[in-house]
Amino acid sequence: MFRIGMGQDSHRFAADPARPLLLGGVRVADARGLDGNSDADVVLHALCRALEQALGEDAFSRYADALCAQGVADSREYVKVARSRVEAAGWRVNNVGLTIEARTPKIEPLRVAMKQSVATLVGIAPDAVGINATSGEGMTLMRDFVPHLAAMLEDVVHDDPESTLGWCDDQTEFEFGLDLLLEGIERRRATEAAAAG
Ligand SMILES: [Zn+2]
Repeated sequence: MFRIGMGQDSHRFAADPARPLLLGGVRVADARGLDGNSDADVVLHALCRALEQALGEDAFSRYADALCAQGVADSREYVKVARSRVEAAGWRVNNVGLTIEARTPKIEPLRVAMKQSVATLVGIAPDAVGINATSGEGMTLMRDFVPHLAAMLEDVVHDDPESTLGWCDDQTEFEFGLDLLLEGIERRRATEAAAAG
């Protein structure tokens, strides 16, 4: 059994020319960043939405806002939550398709790194991530950056009667998962701070 979800997200380019641009977890050199409370990785936000939609849910802003409020601006952490929700529900990501509408930057030089980064985040091979880019031919809003993302989920446990995995539709269970993630981030920060002296 398969499920498909579509995700979209958009951010304006930031006024601050020094703000870094992150796309799919890849830092883009010599490009103006996007505005947002988090790192504004518009591709990863669209990915989270696609994964949520495939699950038949829409919890992205709930956990992104909660993590952001805790000072977690790295959108890769949001994808980790989305992926854990996919896997807790008994699915795994099969492939991801991404279309980017933006006049700038050029996506071609970023393609290999973005495929690798997105693939690693959702646990698939780089050749299971397809990326198209279009400038919009002048028909889209030039100041915005808009990715459209589709993710296909593959059933891993629903046919297995031994499986104890199920839908995470219990709010307590969901909050518990978020707490564990935040604890992990805190621990990692403490370790990094200790290592940095
Ligand atoms: Zn966003």
